[in-house]
Amino acid sequence: MSGYVLEPPSVVGVPVVGGGLFGVRRVFCVGRNYGDHVRELGGDPKEQPPIFFTKPADAVVTSGAPMPYPPRTADLHYEVELVVALSGGGRDIAPADAQALIYGYAVGLDMTRRDLQGQAKAAGQPWDMAKAFDHSAPIGDIVPVSVCSHPTRGAITLTRNGEIRQRGDLSEMIWSVPDIVAALSGFVALAPGDLIFTGTPSGVGPTVPGDRLIGTVEGVGDVSVSITETE
Ligand code: MN
Repeated sequence: MSGYVLEPPSVVGVPVVGGGLFGVRRVFCVGRNYGDHVRELGGDPKEQPPIFFTKPADAVVTSGAPMPYPPRTADLHYEVELVVALSGGGRDIAPADAQALIYGYAVGLDMTRRDLQGQAKAAGQPWDMAKAFDHSAPIGDIVPVSVCSHPTRGAITLTRNGEIRQRGDLSEMIWSVPDIVAALSGFVALAPGDLIFTGTPSGVGPTVPGDRLIGTVEGVGDVSVSITETE
């Protein structure tokens, strides 16, 4: 393309159920959004407003693709999450206006270097290298709202090698999807192409090369990931 000194990076596209690709702009994530998971990490669910962090757009791995075990960790964890895909955006969005800005939903895994996250928390340092690494955001096909509507209840589960490891319900979210969109839009101008991972229920745990992880959200779909050796 004219003017660029290097070929510009390409946009990551996530397949959409029914055809086409959803081009990813940014990946936002919510921490601590299910009461049981907050309690398993030693917190009080109602104590704080939602915590946001981000992953690079090119950390997205589409369903079925292998995920290499990342370097610099001995404790890679899975976190199954409902993912919101935005078709609109803006600043200071009211909760009542949020649903009209949502293109669809998917199932994602917020892969986490739990050992590095623990060290960062203890030292009061940023979480980035615990959360925002290569291949850290596997995501299943995006289901348009015209197909799945706006899910507010239903099972959210993760299996590791066929054994159930995480099981929760979307109705247990501390902050609803409209609440999350509203809160996040107070910090940044949201835009079409943004994805928001909405937090994980309890049961997070480690995974190793050779594992197959399948995350499922009732009424939305699933995501399947094979963990391979470190590249
Ligand atoms: Mn998470």
